[in-house]
Order: sequence, then C-alpha cells, then structure tokens
Amino acid sequence: MRDKRIYLSSPTMHGEEQMYVKEAFDTNWVAPLGKNVDEFEKSIEKYIGVKAAVALNAGTAALHLAVKLAGVGQGDIVLCSDLTFSATVNPVSYEKGVQVFVDSERETWNMDPNALEVAFTKYPQTKAVIVANLYGTPAKLDEIKAICHKYRVILIEDAAESLSSTYKGQQTGTFGKYNAISFNGNKIITTSGGGMLLSDDVEAIAKARFWATQARDPAPYYQHSEIGYNYRMSNIVAGIGRGQMLHIDEHRAQKKVIYLRYKEGFKDLPVTMNPYLDCSEPNFWLSCLTINKGEKVTPEDIRLALEKENIESRPIWKPMHLQPVYAKNDFIAVGDNVGEDVFSRGLCLPSDNKMTEEEQNFVMEIIKNIWK
Ligand SMILES: *Cc1c(COP(=O)(O)O)cnc(C)c1O
Repeated sequence: MRDKRIYLSSPTMHGEEQMYVKEAFDTNWVAPLGKNVDEFEKSIEKYIGVKAAVALNAGTAALHLAVKLAGVGQGDIVLCSDLTFSATVNPVSYEKGVQVFVDSERETWNMDPNALEVAFTKYPQTKAVIVANLYGTPAKLDEIKAICHKYRVILIEDAAESLSSTYKGQQTGTFGKYNAISFNGNKIITTSGGGMLLSDDVEAIAKARFWATQARDPAPYYQHSEIGYNYRMSNIVAGIGRGQMLHIDEHRAQKKVIYLRYKEGFKDLPVTMNPYLDCSEPNFWLSCLTINKGEKVTPEDIRLALEKENIESRPIWKPMHLQPVYAKNDFIAVGDNVGEDVFSRGLCLPSDNKMTEEEQNFVMEIIKNIWK
C-alpha cells in the first residue's frame, strides 16, 4: 500500500495566504471583520461580477440567509435540487419551510427544468427554488431561470461547488436572486471554512450582513428588533481567502487537466465521465464516473480497490428524497428516476490539485485492472 494518501480534494496552499494572515496579526485585526474581510469580499465581487457580497463563516450560513431573504416561513414550499449535499436544502427547515425535491436531468445531473415545470403545476404556491451546480457543473440555468420568472418565484443558486464555473460566459453565483458560495476545506479554493452570500440587490446583502452580525439595531446600547445570528467570517480566515483568490484560475486549470486525463484514460472502459453542456465551462471540482448499465462492476468495487491502495474516492451524493430525514417530503420526477440511477452507478474520483500525473495514472491502472 502507498504511504502517501491520494485525496479526493484537499486544500492547496501557496504562501500568500500566510502573508495576509500575518498582516491581520501585526495590526491586531484578529477579531471579526477588518481589512482582509473587506478586501476578500471585494475580490469576489470583482471576480464573479456581482454588486454585493457578504463574507460568512460557512456556505450553509449563506444559504440560510438566502432562504430568509426569500421570505420562506412556516409551511412554505421550496422546490429544491434532489441530487446534492444536504446543506443545499437543510436551511429550508431552519425556517420551517417544506422541501419538495426535483429530479435531475442526464446532461448535467442537475435539476431537470421539465420536472421543475411539473413541480410548479403541483405546487403553484411555491415560495422559492434552490438549484445546485453539482460537482462544479452548471445546471440548465437559463431554462430554470425562465421558469422561475414565469411563476414570479425567487431563485437561489447554490454555487458552493461551482465557484469559477461559467454558463454561456457568465460566472455561476449570479443566476439566482441570491447566491451562495463556499470555501470549505475541499472546495476549489478554501479558507479552512467559510462562505459568501452574493446578490446584485445591495440592500438585501446589507440586510443579510445585519442578521449575520447579531441583528444589532443602530443604537448606542445593545438593542434588537429581530433575531440575529453570529455568522460573520473572521479577519484571519478572510486572509487565507485573499491569498487563495490569487490562484483560483490556476486551481481550475489543474482540475480540468485531471478531468481530461480521466476521460482519455477511460476511453476503452465501459464508464462515462460526468457530463456538462457545451455552453458551459465547469470548474471540474470533482471528476466523477458512472459505470455503464449492464456491467457487473459496482462503484463500491472501485471505491474499495482504491481504498486498499490508500486512495480516497466517494459515492455520489445520495439523493435527498432517499434520506431518512426527508422521508415525508414529496419528490417530482418525469420519466425514469435520474438521481437514483446516477447514485447507483456513479463514483467521485480523486481530483486533488496536487495529484501528479504519475499518481493519476496509478489510480487509473487500479480501476482498469478491475475489468481485466
Ligand atoms: C459544501 C457545500 C455546501 C455548504 O458549504 P459549507 O461552507 O461547507 O457550509 C452547500 N452546498 C453544496 C452543494 C456543497 O457542496
């Protein structure tokens, strides 16, 4: 077995991060807020092309505040991506709303616009829609946006995995009225943990900033007219983010090389790489495969063979409608159940920026050998 573990996706640091963190120490701006936070927010606004951003301690916090801004309350229906990480949809429950899960399509594995239309027919009172861009692959964002527009419902984009991906030349994290990104440890760039809420609605972001800072009214004493949260990002953490922003395009280029190597290396195997639309440029955060139908090999066979060599891989997100905690929630699909199918045949492959070509060849050899 190899000594050095090959990871799915681990933090890649460069040195500049420490410079900004040191600056925070030197000026004693270790506490929440400060120059790093302001500059990190500005750099994201500029990179994404969005009017306002608020730095928070997690992407999940950004999604929670997005759900609050959308006005979701007791019993409100929110149509959500089904094939995603639980953090996309849990914030609906924080506000006592009810998730209805919408199946995926096969071209991006994301929310199927046709199923979304059906969901709107069944739930015309829908309050909001949350779409995730899975593994960095943009969803059919124009179609989804048009449907939300038609029903005059707020779209929230969970771009936690897709920071730096583009759809028709436009950055993800700009298609919703409210958009969330994440800097969790395994994402395309990381601050160890953190996130941002993005919007062109400057007042909405000001409101989110207020909620995230314990909802302190403008008074000399501590006065509160609303329930607040302690959701802000610290100035230390933001320093890491400033350093990481200098390398975001480099990370994305590395991830693409990894994806293309898998695609080429597996061309004679009965597997298919995770698909994307020609009009989009994913960030290739995670390279994933599905084993073609009718094969005896299972994703778990591959995962265990890799694990034996100290190589990390991971099952596809288990669809939300199959989660025990959401057993009572409705699920809308048209035709066959795409999310369950991708889950049963798919696997996320090691996609670490620091994986060498040699290491990746080794990963691919192990997988090829399963079919020999
Ligand atoms: C990582 C992730 C989140 C949550 O981000 P955190 O910063 O870890 O809170 C939300 N949605 C998706 C799809 C994610 O992958």
